[in-house]
Amino acid sequence: ERGMKMLEYLEKGPWPSYVTELKKTKYPLEPYAEGLARKYTPWLSGSFRVRYVFSGILARRSRDGKFVEIHFRTYAPAGRFYSTSYLRKVVEVAKRYGIGLMEFGGNTGALVLNMIAEKADEAVDAIRTIMGSDVGGSGDTFREFYACPGPALCEFALYDTLHAMDYIRSHPAFYRYLNTQMFPYKIKFKFSGCPMDCATANSRADFALIGTWVGAPEIDQGLFRKMVEEGKINPKEIVNSCPSKAITWNEEKKELNIDGSKCLKAMNCIRKAFPAIRPGKNRKIALLVGAHVQGHFGPKLARAVALLDSVEEVVPFATELINKYMDLAPRRHRIGDMIIRRGFKVISEVADKTLPNKPKGTPSSHLRISIGTNLTDDERKMYENWA
Ligand code: SF4
Repeated sequence: ERGMKMLEYLEKGPWPSYVTELKKTKYPLEPYAEGLARKYTPWLSGSFRVRYVFSGILARRSRDGKFVEIHFRTYAPAGRFYSTSYLRKVVEVAKRYGIGLMEFGGNTGALVLNMIAEKADEAVDAIRTIMGSDVGGSGDTFREFYACPGPALCEFALYDTLHAMDYIRSHPAFYRYLNTQMFPYKIKFKFSGCPMDCATANSRADFALIGTWVGAPEIDQGLFRKMVEEGKINPKEIVNSCPSKAITWNEEKKELNIDGSKCLKAMNCIRKAFPAIRPGKNRKIALLVGAHVQGHFGPKLARAVALLDSVEEVVPFATELINKYMDLAPRRHRIGDMIIRRGFKVISEVADKTLPNKPKGTPSSHLRISIGTNLTDDERKMYENWA
């Protein structure tokens, strides 16, 4: 009773209430209310099998055991650009077999449909035949790939994240594993168009592909001066807020300078003074590995492996590293855990073999790439500074 009163309270006030919305669905509010009152989760995890689904299913049941719901993760388009006709099909399937909830913006990257357990087998058939998608992205397999909207929406995009995600997901080297549980634990690929990293690749992806550039950002001095005169930007603030202290402002000449050998690609000045300051033209894709939140040895950031010119270059590296991962890692260890147990040399060996001419990272480099083999003087200075 106390829990139900708490739910009533949550429906009051000026803001939209999730309780009001949940009431429109088949979501079991009674166990939820009881959980609220007793301060514990109303849900227990449960195991469930659905025929012809080999990539794992997430199930949970209410504490009173009366209600079981299945979370079906389904594949989503790169950048999550859904067509209206596809959304109609999703709604149709969710109405027929679901509890009335869908998750479009979860961290998993997948489109999640919350289904009624008794209808799970039929729901899988409908997801395949009506939606033309599939269930996947749970268990010890590839989790759903995720790309920021990149060039479709964002002026900062330094490479085509949407193409990159489609290319990797549909590549035969990876596609064949999508619906199987072949790995010691999950593997995630994430694609961010620039170092702002909206896909959170640097902190969550076993394979992170992040757009970057070599050298200093470009400055349009005339436009920059104009923005200063109009009071839109304050050059001193831009100088002081640069984390790598790479920026100087000449008050007499009214000129901004950025030392490319120091720039750590924080995107700070670019965000403040765009479009007067833009990313440099020598664009690359930074390949990083080993980030995750869940893993045997705790959360980790990614480590930089190499600077690439195109996404196609990832394939031999990733295939080889995944084979090593399958051979070397115990169960429930992520690639980042394997690096801790076996050392970064596992990664360097694979990178030396499959990416022989690319600037390489060091065991400690995160978004930094240290000295490579085929660098210009400008690049070399930058990497020395980073290393
Ligand atoms: Fe734009 Fe960069 Fe964010 Fe992608 S990561 S959406 S390119 S700011």
